[in-house]
Amino acid sequence: MRLKDQVAVVTGSSTGIGRAVAERFAREGADVVINYRKSADEAAECLKAVEAAGRRGLVVQADMADVSAVRRLVDQTVEEFGRIDIMVANAGVEKETPVLEIDEEHWDWIMDINLKGAFFAAQTAAKHMAKRFDAEGVGGRIIFMSSVHEEIPFPLHAAYCASKGGLKLLCRGLAVELGHKQITVNNVCPGAIKTPINAPLLSNKERIKDLLAQTPLGRIGETDDVTGIVTFLASEEARFVTGSSYFVDGGLTWHYEE
Ligand code: NAD
Repeated sequence: MRLKDQVAVVTGSSTGIGRAVAERFAREGADVVINYRKSADEAAECLKAVEAAGRRGLVVQADMADVSAVRRLVDQTVEEFGRIDIMVANAGVEKETPVLEIDEEHWDWIMDINLKGAFFAAQTAAKHMAKRFDAEGVGGRIIFMSSVHEEIPFPLHAAYCASKGGLKLLCRGLAVELGHKQITVNNVCPGAIKTPINAPLLSNKERIKDLLAQTPLGRIGETDDVTGIVTFLASEEARFVTGSSYFVDGGLTWHYEE
């Protein structure tokens, strides 16, 4: 139980990595706020799993592209649980688009969710954490679900790479500014993980073959390959860890060839 009695928000937690993190956090002893945009049924399944682990859960519908909804998500957490200890800004989107065809709508869609939404989720959580630090001397944990593409390019995903590249320096900047409030900020950078976001890749045998050839550990990741490092970064054990990125990619990043 590495997160006993902690209060965590995981954005975009009705599916994929976010859902696995929410369920793992509950098994580690945390109460968890589950956020979704459209998939209420899947969010309800995640809530069931949190409760089956013996923890309290709360499901909040909120579009991470809408700053007022992001703030409402965090404020509702504090109203319900009295505080927020951990923010995992996980919600994200991507869509293959050749760079010469990226229009303003595509650019804004990606940036508003992956970068702007993540920033305001972190900032709103940090405001509560900073107040708590002033009152009780306890800070908090912010974790961005970035990507190997904060570091390496991804053809047909220029806007996605720019959003994750933005998270790389956002993490460093927040870590430097918020350290004196004992708020740590870190990035988790998955490689290819089996989740709905990767449906186009997972249905293409040629692309899987290429990917495996570039992955020293020789397989595609599972969501539970990612939850361990997120749990560590959220835990007391990671109290002196801030401003860094942690790659969970089977070695892809340093073996990548375009
Ligand atoms: P996923 O599609 O299952 O998860 C993304 C989640 O974000 C979904 O639950 C979706 O509903 C939610 N979401 C999207 N737009 C939203 C919005 N406007 N408001 C609220 N929620 C919204 O895929 P995933 O792989 O679990 O992705 C989770 C995160 O991990 C993303 O940030 C993604 O970029 C990152 N990531 C994934 C991989 C991978 O290979 N799966 C690799 C690197 C990074």
